[in-house]
Amino acid sequence: MRVGVVALQGDVAEHADALRAAGAEVVLVRTPEALERVQALVIPGGESTTLGALMARCGLDQAVRRRVGEGMPVFGTCAGLILLAKRAAGGEPPLLGLMDVAVERNAYGRQRESFEDELYCPAVDPNPFRVAFIRAPVITWVGPGVEVLARHEGLPVLVRQGRLLGATFHPEITGHCGVHRYFCTQVAS
Ligand code: GLN
Repeated sequence: MRVGVVALQGDVAEHADALRAAGAEVVLVRTPEALERVQALVIPGGESTTLGALMARCGLDQAVRRRVGEGMPVFGTCAGLILLAKRAAGGEPPLLGLMDVAVERNAYGRQRESFEDELYCPAVDPNPFRVAFIRAPVITWVGPGVEVLARHEGLPVLVRQGRLLGATFHPEITGHCGVHRYFCTQVAS
């Protein structure tokens, strides 16, 4: 499967590596034209206000909305999930507004409060795996069509709505490609 990674800002190379480890072919997406070449898309973490503004500047916001309307699967992590959300508290970036979740940005605190932990998510891996929360948002509301795949300390951290997958954490920097494999084989297949 050919999977795009929005390559305007954030941890692009790490997602590309995790996708390749999960068996995908990777295309770096910086333009609406490049988006036409992919079957699915990852929107990485970074800074959602900057990333949202850059996507709008090159027309990727409208192009992603149109492709999602046609059924393209999208995996948003951290800032990428914020952009997918319908609502964001704590400074609202230009949202794509595609997923029935509300988030609060930077809800765990500042950079110093970033952390790694084990996550247990049987849909992804029968064993716990390590993930990183980096100035992560908290999901404060999920709509009725949203499935919570994993929780951390009671809070939803991995959510799915049909062909949209969202993680508040970074799955791509701890050497585990299970969430990317789940996206490619379960969400996007
Ligand atoms: N704190 C960032 C934001 O609100 C997200 C951080 C991240 O993607 N790791 O946009």
